[in-house]
Amino acid sequence: MTNLLFMNKITSTFILSLALITHAFAQQTSTPLEKNNYQKVTSYDELTAYIHQLDEKSDLLKVETIGQSVQGRNLYALKFSSSEFGKDKSKIKILFLAQQHGNEQSGKEGALLLAQNLLKPENQYLFDKIDFVLIPQVNPDGSEANKRRNGNDIDLNRNHLILTEPETQALHVFFDKYLFEVTMDIHEYFPYGGVWEKYGYRRNADVTLGVTTNPNISEKIRNLSNTEIAPYVLKNLSINNFSSFVYSPGGPPEIDYIRHSTFDVNDGRQSFGIQNTFSFIQEGLNGKDAFIENIKHRAEGQMTGMHALIEYVYLHKNEIKKIVAADRKKLASGKLNANVSIQSEHVSNGQKLTQPLLSYSTNKDTVVIVNDYRPVVKSITDVKKPAGYLIPKKNKELVEWAIKHAFVTKDFTLQKGHKIEQYTINRIDSIDFERDIIVNPIVEKNDFPGEIVASEYLYIPTDQLKGNMIVLALEPKSELGLVTYKQYAHLLIAGEIFPVLRVVKK
Ligand SMILES: [Zn+2]
Repeated sequence: MTNLLFMNKITSTFILSLALITHAFAQQTSTPLEKNNYQKVTSYDELTAYIHQLDEKSDLLKVETIGQSVQGRNLYALKFSSSEFGKDKSKIKILFLAQQHGNEQSGKEGALLLAQNLLKPENQYLFDKIDFVLIPQVNPDGSEANKRRNGNDIDLNRNHLILTEPETQALHVFFDKYLFEVTMDIHEYFPYGGVWEKYGYRRNADVTLGVTTNPNISEKIRNLSNTEIAPYVLKNLSINNFSSFVYSPGGPPEIDYIRHSTFDVNDGRQSFGIQNTFSFIQEGLNGKDAFIENIKHRAEGQMTGMHALIEYVYLHKNEIKKIVAADRKKLASGKLNANVSIQSEHVSNGQKLTQPLLSYSTNKDTVVIVNDYRPVVKSITDVKKPAGYLIPKKNKELVEWAIKHAFVTKDFTLQKGHKIEQYTINRIDSIDFERDIIVNPIVEKNDFPGEIVASEYLYIPTDQLKGNMIVLALEPKSELGLVTYKQYAHLLIAGEIFPVLRVVKK
């Protein structure tokens, strides 16, 4: 009897101290948002202090500075690994990045909650199979001012092809170093006001998830993302009481079609996707009046979606690694004459979309059946992938661009069985690209006349991981090409030769 009482006493003391320790740990590692009682979002200084505090406490986490913003703030990568990061080749590498847009605060707050959460003992099994990097804030300058763009007033998530900004440059140098198999780019969407309000409703899902849609990305990757991975994450969100839906911009349905986002490769998701990466975009619902509105729910929703994707990858590590390795090998071997789609359009597959919306008149959730739903991206213009492109060395912008992307480049000698082609720009028409009007040059392709002075050109072969990106960037008719940016508009002159040449098999 005495013994039993004694035991009970020990047990309860033990449980009590365990509870105290757990409580103390939670208190110490509260994110700045939690410490601020959800009344103020995390500042850059608070973020800096917090992640270093986590780093000191945990052997699992190392904070690395991967670059600086326009205004000189650090860009931090939180590297989680149970061993030396990237060394164990049997592991899968995941990269999440948040807050490319400074006024989308819940991405950063969700990322910090995720960092806290991953360090809990019950989550450490994930790192038996995963090396994980979290970049909680790609755009600290925008975040401090609560504005979308960076310190140069540039939209970073439209900058991944031309890479003019230090933030996107740092991100791609970092990606290239580890070649992550899975990435997710965390955003918020702002459905309030505008044309939608006129039609009486708005989108209302807590979290939406988008997959890669560019038709040049491996079909296996696009299919698995669409049919297995996205549904898994969306379902997990619902189970945890966050409403969720497929990322589907466009509309309102009365006046315009709904699509599965863009297929442009200038954003975070598709710029990694085009290198045959499983790449996602997650968008939480922004606050309406103040960036702090509903921030607890917003941050927790973001964290839940991120956590679900990590869990999926953990459960399917080998399958994902295998697909990525095989499809990247195809890019690196540069299968000649493969078709690359340079102009595409969103088309229907006969399916109608049942879209959850909030009605302004009842202030309740409702659904609208969208008839003009175009979830499929279909190519309308293909080119045969050449062996490579020649860019004139005197065009400094093009050369610098190639250097920023760290493309494999070579001195050029014309191989036997190869020839050089050039485009003449006959005239410059325009084309509707996802409701923007962009240039659509009418071109004529001919053999390069005479001998080429090889020393005047830089040769970029297409048998590399960024091979499809190179084709998309350098073809004059590409809807996603450099010529669609003002910095490169001068490359297109009606009646003249396009300065970038193609090297093809005879
Ligand atoms: Zn965004």
